[in-house]
Amino acid sequence: MNDPPPVIVGAGPAGMRAAVTLAAAGLAPIVLDEAPRSGGQIYRRPPPGFVRAHRTLYGFEAAKARRVHEAFDALAGRIDYRPGTLVWDLKPHVLHCLAAGAFGDVACRDVILAPGARDRVIPFPGWTIPGVYTLGGAQVALKYQGCAVGERVVFMGTGPLLYLVAYQYAKAGARVAAVLDTTGFAARRRAVPGLLRSGRTFAKGLWYVAALRARGIRVANGIRPVAAEAQDGAVCALAYRVGKSQHRIACDAIAFGFGLSSETQLADLAGVPFAFDPVQQQYLPRCDDAGRTGVRGVYLAGDGGGIAGADAAEIAGERAALALLEDRGHSVDKARAAALERERRRAARMRVALDAAFPFPVDMASAMTDETVLCRCEGVTAGELRAAARELHAEEINRAKAFSRCGMGRCQGRMCGPSAAIVLAAALGVPLDGAGRLRGQPPVKPIPMHMRP
Ligand SMILES: Cc1cc2nc3c(=O)[nH]c(=O)nc-3n(C[C@H](O)[C@H](O)[C@H](O)COP(=O)(O)OP(=O)(O)OC[C@H]3O[C@@H](n4cnc5c(N)ncnc54)[C@H](O)[C@@H]3O)c2cc1C
Repeated sequence: MNDPPPVIVGAGPAGMRAAVTLAAAGLAPIVLDEAPRSGGQIYRRPPPGFVRAHRTLYGFEAAKARRVHEAFDALAGRIDYRPGTLVWDLKPHVLHCLAAGAFGDVACRDVILAPGARDRVIPFPGWTIPGVYTLGGAQVALKYQGCAVGERVVFMGTGPLLYLVAYQYAKAGARVAAVLDTTGFAARRRAVPGLLRSGRTFAKGLWYVAALRARGIRVANGIRPVAAEAQDGAVCALAYRVGKSQHRIACDAIAFGFGLSSETQLADLAGVPFAFDPVQQQYLPRCDDAGRTGVRGVYLAGDGGGIAGADAAEIAGERAALALLEDRGHSVDKARAAALERERRRAARMRVALDAAFPFPVDMASAMTDETVLCRCEGVTAGELRAAARELHAEEINRAKAFSRCGMGRCQGRMCGPSAAIVLAAALGVPLDGAGRLRGQPPVKPIPMHMRP
């Protein structure tokens, strides 16, 4: 009997490279992606009809973007690529999907999960005011449709994306009011020896900062946001402090983010074990260097298994595809597989240096004021979550969710969950991993209420 086609969830660098590898071995994988076009986050393509040069869209990554797009496009007719298809639930041997307004199931025996990542958010007072966006959201507006989120935008947070998106806005002609980084200068300096080993990545980072400063844009380090302020129902300023001094900067949009969080819900629903990662300071699904998860037929590739960047995602996608082929009895190039694993480990070491240069500001989450709206879907404040911990003895995040409704809304805690666990751990006086993690629940992303599967 013929083996059923393998399924790949995600057509970003990891999923696309996995598809290329499987197709080269003569298989015809089904590739499911909720986005209308392949490319994932970094190599996102504009809608058909929008014509912009690769160099304009992808900057330093233009050549890679072209190579990745061309390799995937060349598979047309040899794979079953289904754009616009959201996988909203995963059960043994079946993926529940929503495409073009209709529900449908995809049978699968082997699946490579490559769903990527999303912005890592720490709520702060005013973050739900219209005009406050995540960094990724601000970038999607620019990359996908050539729109800026405002005419005078403040970029705030930390991570490589902070400088990259601010630079992309400045280059596109938008007015960047300031770039405010929560990482202090001393921490950044301490990370330099590790960053130097990354070569190109470090050089690009320096170049973005220099290009921003050359345009007269204020770049400040070691800040903490105080509040986004509103006027006539829209954001009008960001108040922040540096040390003991408070500042205020006028703006009509804020783009903020504190690194990335892996999209782990499908791995969770597949029963993949999780462990707390002290470097990325979040719970992540476990897999070996080949992408095998310990759950038969389930493989992980790319940022969905831990943030490592686009190049590492491609490597992981190829390696996971080779693992799938090996497990199906195909002969694979062992030397190539070993080289990919070495590359993967090298990328992980590089990631440690990046995380040291842009540390996640845990103190900002644990010190969140009681009045801050933590879960915007359900309107739950940090104080209400702390009260659940104190008064109802919610000593674990899923219990706190049941008592407070924090993380129970449309986003299923994808946005607030990681910060809620930190707020809870601090309230309980336990280490960061002590409050646990929100269990994944279907639908992993919102689906319309008026439709029934
Ligand atoms: C918003 C954002 C912007 C970024 N911009 C940059 C950048 O400009 N430069 C840079 O170097 N790095 C950037 N990164 C990081 C970079 O995108 C990643 O390191 C890299 O793209 C990871 O590749 P991937 O294949 O693992 O995931 P991705 O590129 O994220 O691709 C994952 C794909 O899976 C699909 N998907 C997810 N969940 C489902 C589901 N349930 N059902 C169906 N499809 C699903 C998504 O639509 C997406 O196409 C960005 C990350 C984010 C979150």
